[in-house]
Amino acid sequence: MSEQRRDLGRGMYGRAVPVRPAPGGRSPVRCPRGHDLAIATARSGYHHWYDLTEITCGACHALGDPLASWCLVDPGEQHDARSAPGSGLVLVRTPPAERGGVGQLALWVDGEAQADLDLAMCGPCRRAVIEHVRTDQPRRGYGRVLVAAALVRAPPSMYRWSTTPIADDPVARAFWSGISWPGTLGQPDYCTDMDRAAGRIQDW
Ligand SMILES: [Zn+2]
Ligand SMILES: [Zn+2]
Repeated sequence: MSEQRRDLGRGMYGRAVPVRPAPGGRSPVRCPRGHDLAIATARSGYHHWYDLTEITCGACHALGDPLASWCLVDPGEQHDARSAPGSGLVLVRTPPAERGGVGQLALWVDGEAQADLDLAMCGPCRRAVIEHVRTDQPRRGYGRVLVAAALVRAPPSMYRWSTTPIADDPVARAFWSGISWPGTLGQPDYCTDMDRAAGRIQDW
């Protein structure tokens, strides 16, 4: 995708708005500021650049809040890199080569990765570890959507979740404290398959 095309897209089809996970594509009950949308009223539209549903909270909009509009991303809708759409905002998964290895979930906009997350997961041991969350566009909700996509792959009701050490900075603290993280933070709980795949232990 050329720069020219992307600039054109931004100008003609809309601006960058934050995204939020919407499991099953369901409409949210509250806006990102916590307003009950049944009372605040919500408007639903279509964001052409992202190719996603865009919601506007009536209360936030009336107050001129820059977070008044946001787009819904179904965290369960994940594509393989080879067949992922080259336009719009999509989630792309790259499984690891071996059991317990580190795979990746990425958020693409117009075919370019804007954020990604490294994930070690082991089905037989029912454990999952987030190793890194990276984003080129902080505070847009990309990381939050990626974590939701990871939790779809390994539901917290069945898997024990943890993370590698978290950066000691305000942005990381705000992120992890704002997403209802269901696991342990900062202490990876690896199984032996993960240790073996990463070369931390060897059989002989
Ligand atoms: Zn609101
Ligand atoms: Zn395992």
